[in-house]
Amino acid sequence: MSREPLKTDAPADGNPLLEPWTGPFEAPPFDRVEPRHFRPAFDAALDEARREIDAVAADPEPPTFTNTIEALERGGRRLDKAASVFFNLAGAHTNDELQAIERAIAPILARHRSDTYLNEALFKRIDALKTSAGKLGLTAEQSRVLDRYHLDFTRAGAGAPPEIKPRLKAISERLATLAAEFGQHVLKDENDWLMLLDEADVDGLPDFLVASAARIAADRGHPGKYAITLARSSVEPFLQFSPRRDLRERAFRAWTARGENGGLTDNRAIAGEMARLRAERARLLGYETYAHYRLADTMAKTPQAALDLLESVWAPAVASAARDEEALQAIAVGEGGNFRVAPWDWRYLTEKRRRHEFAFDEGELKPYLSLDRMIEAAFYAANRLFGLEFVERFDLKLYHPDVRAWEVRGAGGEPKALFLGDYFARPSKRSGAWMSSFRGQQKLDEPRLPIVVNVMNFARAAEGEASLLSVDEARTLFHEFGHALHGMLSDVTYPRISGTHVAGDFVEFPSQLFEHWIQAPEMLRRFALHHETGEAMPEALIDKLLAARRFNQGFATVEYTASALVDLKLHLEPEPSGLDVVAFEREELERIGMPEAIAMRHRTPHFQHIFSGGYSAAYYSYLWSEVLDADGFEAFEETGDIFDTGLAQRLEKFVYAAGGARDYDEAYRAFRGRSPSPAALFRKRGLAAGA
Ligand SMILES: [Zn+2]
Repeated sequence: MSREPLKTDAPADGNPLLEPWTGPFEAPPFDRVEPRHFRPAFDAALDEARREIDAVAADPEPPTFTNTIEALERGGRRLDKAASVFFNLAGAHTNDELQAIERAIAPILARHRSDTYLNEALFKRIDALKTSAGKLGLTAEQSRVLDRYHLDFTRAGAGAPPEIKPRLKAISERLATLAAEFGQHVLKDENDWLMLLDEADVDGLPDFLVASAARIAADRGHPGKYAITLARSSVEPFLQFSPRRDLRERAFRAWTARGENGGLTDNRAIAGEMARLRAERARLLGYETYAHYRLADTMAKTPQAALDLLESVWAPAVASAARDEEALQAIAVGEGGNFRVAPWDWRYLTEKRRRHEFAFDEGELKPYLSLDRMIEAAFYAANRLFGLEFVERFDLKLYHPDVRAWEVRGAGGEPKALFLGDYFARPSKRSGAWMSSFRGQQKLDEPRLPIVVNVMNFARAAEGEASLLSVDEARTLFHEFGHALHGMLSDVTYPRISGTHVAGDFVEFPSQLFEHWIQAPEMLRRFALHHETGEAMPEALIDKLLAARRFNQGFATVEYTASALVDLKLHLEPEPSGLDVVAFEREELERIGMPEAIAMRHRTPHFQHIFSGGYSAAYYSYLWSEVLDADGFEAFEETGDIFDTGLAQRLEKFVYAAGGARDYDEAYRAFRGRSPSPAALFRKRGLAAGA
C-alpha cells in the first residue's frame, strides 16, 4: 500500500476514553470515566475517524478490497469505543449531564454517518469493487461484507442526485435528535409518576409485591408507605394482583399515557414528525414508503410479506381472546362485579382464572424462580449446547455496583468473551430489557473478544433476600441471554457482519429460540428450586406451569400484533404530513377490530422500539423470528434430546457463530435441514391456523 500510515495522535490528556484500555479484557475503565470526558473524546475520535475515511477516499491506488473495505473496517475504533461506553450508559445509567450530551451528540454522529455515506469519492471505490466483485477472488465472507457496504451506502443516498444530498443529511440529523428526545421523555414520565399507597391499599397483594412496593416508597423518600411505579416490573404485577379496581384503573391509565401527558415530555408531535421525515427520506431514495425502504434488506423483504404474517395470526388471536374475555366476564360477574371487562381488569381476572383452571397462581411459582438460579440455568444451557463455561469476576470495576461480570470460556478453556449482567430496575435506567455490546467480536488483525451486557429491570429484593422472578421475567432473562450468546459465540472476521449485526427480523431468532430451554421440564426440575428450602418445584406444579403455557396466548398475540400492525401501517403512509399519530392509531385499531378490553402492548407515544430503538417498521420482526424459533426448537424435540449434540453444533455454526456471514434463509436451512414452516408457531401459541 502506498499511503502513509494514519496518525493516531488525538490528544489523550488523561482522558480515559482516548487512552488504550489495558485492564482485564481491555474492558472500559469505568471507574475513571466521568461525563466531562465524553465531549472531548467524541470530538477527537470523530476527527480521527474523518481523517481515516478521507485517506481511504483519497488513496491514489486503484481500489482493492484491502485498501478500501478492510481499511474502513479498521477505521473508527476510538469512536466505537467512546460511543459504546456512552450509549450503554445513556440507556442503563443516565443522568442529566449524560442526557444533555446525548441530545447534543446525536445529530453530530448522524452528520458523521451522512458525510461518510455521501462521500462520492469513497462510494466510487466501493461501487467499482462491487461491479468487479466476481473477479476479485473474495472469500464468501468478504463478498457478503462488500455487498453490505454497497447496500449501506446506496440506502443512505450514495449515488443519488447531488441536489438531494443536503436534504438527506438534514433529515438524518433531525431524526437522531428526535429519537434521543423521545426516549428521554418516556423515561421522565416513568420516573415522575408514583402511586403512593397505605397499608389498606396493599391488602390482598402477594408478599413479594408488598415488599417491593415498600422498598420503592422508602427509596423515594416515603418510608413506611408503599409505592407503585410505571416500571413494568412494578405496574404489571400490581395490575395482576390488586383487587382494587379503582387503583388498577389509575395505574393502567398512567402507564398507557406515557408520552401523551401534554407539556415538555409529550411525544405525539415528535412521533408525527419522525414518521413524516422517514417517509420523505424513503421517497427521496426512490422507495414507495418508509416501510418499503426499511424492509428491503430483511428476510421478509417486502411490507406485504410482513403484513401477511401478522394478518394470518390476527383473526385466530382475536377469536381466542374473545373466548378468554367471556371466561373473564363470567368470573367478574361471579364475584358480583357489575362492569364490562376493561383493559385494567384483564390481568387481574386472568390471574383468577388461572387459579380456577390450573389451580395455581403466579405467586406460587415465584419462590422457585430466583434470579441467581435462573442465571445459573442460562449458563448451564449454554454449556450443554455450546460448551461454554462462566467464571464470575469480582475484581472488575464496572459502571454501577449492581453490575456483575463473568469471564466466558470456550470448550477448550480458552477465553471467549466478557459477559456483564445488570439486572435491577433503577431510575437511571430506561425501561425494558436489552442486550448490548461494549465491544463486538472480530479477527481482522488479531482476535478481539466481545464484551456483552444484558440489562434488565427486575425488582430488587430486600438486603440479604433472593430476588424472585415471574415466569415472564425468567423467559426475558433467557431471551436477552440468547442475544448475548449471539454476540459472544460470534466467529467472523469482519465487524460489519459480526454477532447481532444481522437483519432485524432474523436477530430475534437466536434470542427467542433460547427462551425454549427455560420452559423445558428437565431444566425446570434442575433449576426451579425453592429459594429458601432448595427443594425442587413439585412435579404437579411443573405440569400446571407447562399446561398453562398456551393460556392467555390470544391476549398476548393481540396486544403484540396490534402494536406491530400500527407500526407497519404508520410507516406505509406515503405522505404522513400533519399526521396526528394518536388519531391514526385509533383509526387503525378500529379498522382491524381491536378488542376493547385489550390495549396495545406499546402505544405510539411511548413506543420506544420504533421511535428510539431501531425497530421502526420492524416490530413485526419478533413474530417473523418466532416462525423460526418455534420451528427450530421442534427440531430438538424431534430428536428427543433438547441438547442434541449434532443439532447444537449446526446451530452454533450456522446461526450463533455466523453473524451476517450467510444469507439467512440459507443459514436456517443449513441448521434445520429444510425451510421453516409457520405451523409450529400456531401450535406454540395454541392458535388454530385459518380460524
Ligand atoms: Zn430481542
